Amino acid sequence: MTSIYDQRPWLAQYDTGRPHDIVPEYANALEMFTASVRRTPDAPIIRYFDGVITLRELDALSDEFACGLLAAGVAGGDRVALYLQNVPQYVIALLGVWKTGGIAVSVNPMYKQREVNELLRDSGASAVVCLENLYGNVRPVFDGLVITTSELRHQSRNDPRAFGGVDSVACPGARDMGELIAGFAGQRPPAVSPQSGDVAVLTYTSGTTGPPKGALITHGNVVFNAQTYRDWMGVGADDVVFGVAPLFHVTGLIGHIGVSLLTGAPLVLFHRFEPTLAIDMIRETGATFTVGSITVFIALMNAPNADRDALATLIKVYSGGAPIPPSTVKAFAEQFGPCIRNIYGMTETTSPCHAVPLHADAPVDQASGALSVGVPVFNTVVRIVGENGEELPQGEVGEIVVSGPQVVAGYWKKPEETARAIRAGALHTGDVGYMDADGWFYVVDRKKDQINAGGYKVWPREVEDVLYEHEAVREAAVVGVPDAYRGETVKAFVSLRPGKEVTPEELIDFCKARLAAYKYPREVEFLEELPKTGSGKLLRRELQDHGRLRSGA
Ligand code: AMP
Repeated sequence: MTSIYDQRPWLAQYDTGRPHDIVPEYANALEMFTASVRRTPDAPIIRYFDGVITLRELDALSDEFACGLLAAGVAGGDRVALYLQNVPQYVIALLGVWKTGGIAVSVNPMYKQREVNELLRDSGASAVVCLENLYGNVRPVFDGLVITTSELRHQSRNDPRAFGGVDSVACPGARDMGELIAGFAGQRPPAVSPQSGDVAVLTYTSGTTGPPKGALITHGNVVFNAQTYRDWMGVGADDVVFGVAPLFHVTGLIGHIGVSLLTGAPLVLFHRFEPTLAIDMIRETGATFTVGSITVFIALMNAPNADRDALATLIKVYSGGAPIPPSTVKAFAEQFGPCIRNIYGMTETTSPCHAVPLHADAPVDQASGALSVGVPVFNTVVRIVGENGEELPQGEVGEIVVSGPQVVAGYWKKPEETARAIRAGALHTGDVGYMDADGWFYVVDRKKDQINAGGYKVWPREVEDVLYEHEAVREAAVVGVPDAYRGETVKAFVSLRPGKEVTPEELIDFCKARLAAYKYPREVEFLEELPKTGSGKLLRRELQDHGRLRSGA
């Protein structure tokens, strides 16, 4: 495979001084971590408020946790779900699961019982590690091993900025993570050495039809993309990684945990994103690198403590997961200095497949106003294909198809879905875009029916399924409509059963109780009949256009 620098010589000016195509340096993510432990055992690797965990301590804690899992009956190859906020226990548990030879299943902490249940069933998880205040969503739907932990652990200040109202909660029938670890103090589990193709994490993504699909993120995927972050963005041991992206998502898994474990750069965690607190934490820790959704950066700009020098140390800033308005990049640079650079990828590419080089200014497409998402990262080949799978010439708009070492191995126990998405190693992204004459890529549309609410993805079918559970609903169609802050938000069109009555507010509350906060419809509009084709298929685009007009976009 030719180097990206052979294909696009102009990129050489942004050289970070490293080889251009990556040779994986480790067979698995544990080896990658162990190398850092050996290099600098006493370096801090996690900062959580005023608590610090060194590499040596993280190694010991995860060893002890692995021993606890094994003693409780977890065996190699088992799936262990992590249902946690951005807390140090996430990293301890992830490494601990890998040390048992197991697979971590990442679960969004915003998920409600119904959503958690789906993931636990599909993955066949034998254990769950969760925050105490999420236990109530797990116990009623899961009779396996539950290990609970409090967000108050690993920091001593009980920081009122983040923890006002957070209490320790009794969890009858669960094991306490701290006690489990303490019970195996100083012990090491039997050594394991996963192969590069072995699955490290199942990260769930929903689909147009059917239940959520667990993307098979291998150890090789984790190592490759951790190296990509290190070499493309120039993240090294002297950097401080600021953990604003959720750890359950691939951005947090690789752009925070992976790159920190690889380089030994400390990872700053602070439970859950809150802009005022985030600015305080950047100042306190001297954070230098971050990657997050654009809504994070908009929120930072509007925080009451957002002085001009608030982000003085934060010089490497990347954003992905949703389109970035060029006006936001400009406003952020004017307010704070640094340029927000685009990174593009998805769960199925283990975070980035494209990114803007660290010192480059990405162009804006004059016709659509879209900011370029960058160029393909190391070892990655991207094609734009037409309706019949034919490769389109430069400049033409088609589906973005990605081949490279970051493409996941498929979906957990879903061979048909895997074969549809990944053909001959090439991932059909469902995103529509093109490449310009200099090799910059632009994402201009989506083939998939996904709604992108500030980086959080909502699949209309899931919201429609919940609406159909309501006795008054005859038909439901959910679409994305423009939203000033999130880019897009959720709107439902509903027709009612004869003789039934319900208000939009009641339907919204009904969904709120059953879906994560970013998924429930912000607006419900009643129609006599939903528009359909002759064969009865819902005309979603028509509804979307109707929704756009109504919201004045
Ligand atoms: P997820 O699997 O949650 O990471 O979502 C991936 C999807 O987010 C992609 O398929 C795109 O539709 C969208 N996306 C990711 N990065 C960008 C970006 N930089 N610009 C526009 N859309 C993006």
